Order: sequence, then structure tokens, then C-alpha cells
Amino acid sequence: MVLTKESVYSMFRFVALLWRENIARLSEIDSRFGDGDHGVTIGKMADMILSRLDKRRDEGAKAFIESLGSECLEIAGGSAGPLYGVLLEGLAGPLPDDNAAIDARTLRAMFSSSRNALFEITKARVGDKTLMDVLIPATEAAENALDDVPAILRAAATAARQGLRETENQVSKFGRARNYGEKTLGTPDVGAISTALLFEGFQRGIEEEKAR
Ligand SMILES: [Mg+2]
Repeated sequence: MVLTKESVYSMFRFVALLWRENIARLSEIDSRFGDGDHGVTIGKMADMILSRLDKRRDEGAKAFIESLGSECLEIAGGSAGPLYGVLLEGLAGPLPDDNAAIDARTLRAMFSSSRNALFEITKARVGDKTLMDVLIPATEAAENALDDVPAILRAAATAARQGLRETENQVSKFGRARNYGEKTLGTPDVGAISTALLFEGFQRGIEEEKAR
């Protein structure tokens, strides 16, 4: 299986739907140790993705993901917009301009590139209770998965869920939440939740496409 631009649209549609479904939960969790705006920001990104999908059906995968990235960079309200902007632009990086279908090798390179782009802008690593606790293990699982697109997406989503669960046992070291120290134990990181939903949406978008 390779990913066409329609597969990419389907993946992002699922991400947007999952993000929308989780707006209230994300805001509630962010309000415990942050300013409570994560749900609102994620909701804006979800709406942006859905309106882009409605308008630009013929756009190639590279241009489509790049445009999502640059629109995220423009979204005001905390660090989430810029972080996801960089993540998405990183994801688009390895895609060829000719819109050739995405094979397993390219998909893996996309995930690695998104993580490497984040490495450039944050010092957070595994254990610091940020979205990196999801992004790093998910992209590593993709790198180590079989040479098969669905297997890569499944491995990434599984590792993302596991990484998210582990943030419950961590003390926040970044962002506003770090001021709460040990009080953050027992609550997952809110950015880790939205990033785990990204990987879940990618996988479910493809499951959905295969079922059609
Ligand atoms: Mg916030």
C-alpha cells in the first residue's frame, strides 16, 4: 500500500475530527496547570484543516501539508500553533514535489523529519512531560516498523498511546506546568494528548480508506 493525496486528506480529516471531539477535555486538562487554552487552539487548527479540505481537494500532498503547517504557525494562543506548524512543515519536508504516492520509506522519512524539526526548536526530550514524549517514541516506532505503510502507522499510533500514558508518571519540566512540579503527577500532558490524537487520526484515516 502507498499513500495517495486522497489518503493524506483522509488522515488529516480524521485528525481534525478527533481534535474537535476532544476540545473540552483538552481545555479542562490544560486549565489544571496551564492557561486552559489548548482545546481552543486545537479546535482552531481542526477547523482550519477541515476548511482547507473543503477548498483544496486537488492540492498535492506536499503543498497541502505545507499549507496546514504555515497556517498553524499563524494561529495565536500559546505555543501549540507554532509547535504544530513546525511539526507539519517537517512532515512535508521529505515529500517529492511531483506528488508521487508515498511509500513506506518516504512515510518513515516524513515522521523522522517532523521530529528532527521539533528538536531544533525545543530542548524537551523523553521524560520532560511534553508532546515530545509522544513524538519521539512514535517516530522511533515508525523507523523500526516493517516496510509497510499500515504497519508504520499502527506502530506509531501504538507507541504514541504508550508515550502519552507515561506522561502521567512524569513531573512537568517545560511550559507553565513546570511551576506546579509534583502536582502534575497523575495528569497526562495536554500537548502529549493532542499529539497522540494526531497519530491516532493518521492511522484511523487509513483504516477508513482501506475499508471503503
Ligand atoms: Mg495553554
